[in-house]
Amino acid sequence: MSAQRQSALGDILAAEIAAQGPISVEDYMARALGDAVHGYYMKQDPFGAAGDFTTAPEISQMFGEMIGLCLADHWMRAGSPARFILCECGPGRGTLMADIWRATKILPGFHDAAEIVLVETSPVLRARQIETLAALGVSPQHVTRFDEVPPGPLWLVANEFFDALPIRQFVKTPTGWHARLIGLDEQGALRFGLAPEPYAAIGFDAPDGTVLEVMAAGLAFMKALAQRITFEGGLALILDYGHRESGFGDTLQALRAHEFVDVLDEPGDCDLTAHVDFAALGRVGRAVGADVYGPITQGTFLRALGIEARAAQLKQKAADPAAIDSALMRLLAPGATGMGELFKVIAVGQKGDPAPAGFEVAS
Ligand code: SAH
Repeated sequence: MSAQRQSALGDILAAEIAAQGPISVEDYMARALGDAVHGYYMKQDPFGAAGDFTTAPEISQMFGEMIGLCLADHWMRAGSPARFILCECGPGRGTLMADIWRATKILPGFHDAAEIVLVETSPVLRARQIETLAALGVSPQHVTRFDEVPPGPLWLVANEFFDALPIRQFVKTPTGWHARLIGLDEQGALRFGLAPEPYAAIGFDAPDGTVLEVMAAGLAFMKALAQRITFEGGLALILDYGHRESGFGDTLQALRAHEFVDVLDEPGDCDLTAHVDFAALGRVGRAVGADVYGPITQGTFLRALGIEARAAQLKQKAADPAAIDSALMRLLAPGATGMGELFKVIAVGQKGDPAPAGFEVAS
């Protein structure tokens, strides 16, 4: 018997697969996260201690403050355009944008010039973002897709957004590379399998059993973003967990209540993500003519922007200074699974523009 735990969406997918055959990893991930009724992000707020995972802006206001200063500093270096789009992709609870907004209040002209646009598919999180920003007197414009962002120079941030975009997986076998699919076992539970026909478009070799991931949606998003900045100017900061160099391996992972679970367990009720291939993002950005900075580690980036000085300043007035130290340590944590090292930052700017702050020091 399969030990798999089921969900409403799991039952629907199993019935569809029984009727129409296996689905790709890409379709599975898209449905598990974005199904209009049962998708993970479409029905709930997954953040915080009571949720499934915690992100950097939810750990400390210092994270958003550093991002805000980096964006605003670059806007000034670009000549302080009188109108621009301040955009966030996948804003979660709206915490990061709220911290960016607070931190940039003192910069002359920045708030007056900014038009806040949020790219968000989830109705639950849209409502949450509106509520968070209303407390600062800001009403953002929401769009569902990046190509709906109004024209104009663009200063943008995306934190833990690309990891949620559906990936494709291929597995090398003696007969070539085969797409990894999700079908059913004898008990009717979801299970991994392979497409019967090899996928001829992958032109390189690897040992049998090797898994190759392709961030199809992420690369398309990056292309649109880099083209937009190339034509209209601005800067995009992309932060996420992932690797500097393209490589092999299965990085698809599911989290529920801060624990890793099987990726086929309870689709729609667990967060599903894949590591971001920063080298591939960088190649796409450069190919369309943008300047790409990094990737550098989150720790290097936040330190270069002065997060330690900001922590010291906050501690002087804090009721609980130890909490600020522990938040700082989490954001800068070294080691393969520490946020400061596992998380990388890449920036995309218009060719020839000044480099953004934080990227001067190599990591
Ligand atoms: N940036 C936030 C939240 C990260 S979670 C933080 O750091 O706390 C991922 C976010 O991306 C959620 O807001 C989710 O609803 C949104 N999202 C996921 N897939 C999306 C897509 N294809 N288009 C737009 N938003 C998406």
